[in-house]
Amino acid sequence: MQERFCKCGHKLMVQYTLDGFLPWEPVIVDDSTVVSPVKVCPCCGTYLSIHFLR
Ligand SMILES: [Zn+2]
Repeated sequence: MQERFCKCGHKLMVQYTLDGFLPWEPVIVDDSTVVSPVKVCPCCGTYLSIHFLR
């Protein structure tokens, strides 16, 4: 997993999946445990695309 940041500054982790429809998926991580995959930033609501994360 890689640490990425939404444009609002909220930290997310990106988990790479080798067999999924998408090769990656943003997830919420709590103490190194994947809590849930997310489609939008839980902080600002922006749709999460790998290209928009930094
Ligand atoms: Zn955000």
